[in-house]
Amino acid sequence: MNRLFSSLPTTVFETMSALARETGAVNLGQGFPDDPGPEDVRRAAADAVLNGYNQYPSMLGIPELREGIAAHYAHHHSVTLDPAREVMVTSGATEALAGALFALIEPGDEVVLFQPMYDAYLPLVLRAGGVPKFVTLEPPHWRFTEEALSAAFSDKTRVAIINNPLNPSASVFAREDLALLARFAERSNAVVVSDEVWEHVVFDGARHVSVLNIPGLRDRAVKIGSAGKIFSLTGWKVGFVCAAPDILAALARSHQFLTFTTPPNLQVAVAYGLTKDDRYFREMRDDLQAKRDYLSRGLAEAGFTVLPSAGTYFLNVDIAPLDETDDVAFAQKLVHQAGVVTIPVSAFYAQDHVRTVLRFCFAKRRETLDGALEKLAAFL
Ligand code: PMP
Ligand code: GLN
Repeated sequence: MNRLFSSLPTTVFETMSALARETGAVNLGQGFPDDPGPEDVRRAAADAVLNGYNQYPSMLGIPELREGIAAHYAHHHSVTLDPAREVMVTSGATEALAGALFALIEPGDEVVLFQPMYDAYLPLVLRAGGVPKFVTLEPPHWRFTEEALSAAFSDKTRVAIINNPLNPSASVFAREDLALLARFAERSNAVVVSDEVWEHVVFDGARHVSVLNIPGLRDRAVKIGSAGKIFSLTGWKVGFVCAAPDILAALARSHQFLTFTTPPNLQVAVAYGLTKDDRYFREMRDDLQAKRDYLSRGLAEAGFTVLPSAGTYFLNVDIAPLDETDDVAFAQKLVHQAGVVTIPVSAFYAQDHVRTVLRFCFAKRRETLDGALEKLAAFL
């Protein structure tokens, strides 16, 4: 019995949030907002519960949500999707990732991963029997080169997982980067699984580019989204996958044995939320950008070297200028001596660790950010 799941690590988010609970430190680690989220969307969910949307909905998702997703992406990303054959609702982006890997790879197939990578990718690839091949990205640009892709791709590559905007580096890949990736995916006949959960959280006037808009990837990519991020309701766990009909059909087969479906009341509320006008999405971005700037200024004033953040709820600091060489040890010091929880970015690398970068979540109320900044300034 004690061998059960022994190969799976404890996620850094659980470790660091547990430390915040135990010590009462301000939690700027795990990425979740501390305000309640849009009231009308929450009310739509409550109404749906009371009005009887509580039995198993159809396996691929309720039709109004699948149609809503297609309409939303047509409007925001100029992607044309057939809601009946190219869109499926999942229980969060995490289920979409697991389902995509279980559907697309067989044991022994190679999977290209870009590290730093969101913490779920590697355990899922390994559990699915995949052989990871890493492309390593480093601060401050977090870009990949053609040589790095040449070394990672082979004729055994079945899948490449890309995350754009990228958590934890808070960087955004350019259209040219995605076009380069497309060339390698085509050459290996691989599918690109694109985790785009941060698609609405890009700053400084930039626009998100979906893989479905890259020539050569429209029919060999899986685009993953998450209502948790779109509506700042991270616990909702309503995700979406969009892909060409043959790929979507494969994903639907694994979805039926993972969760089968997703709470119908939340699907109704998300379908309602997706009809919000451009102003909602602009205001959300502007609010998060103001929070990014506030925390970034405060951290710089406290003495940290702040790296650029082009998207996500996160910004990073480089602790090398403070003569620190171990992000995990420094994050522990910040919890116990300053009273602030962060995430050490080395947790997102499988090898060749970048060891001096710490991630902060800025999607917090002003009081929360002020509380953390005061403690950090006193500590440094
Ligand atoms: N992918 C990335 C890159 C994320 O940052 C997150 C959560 N923040 C997820 C997936 C998980 O999304 P969900 O909660 O919808 O499963
Ligand atoms: N995605 C969130 C983050 O990056 C955490 C999600 C989780 O706790 N698994 O902080």
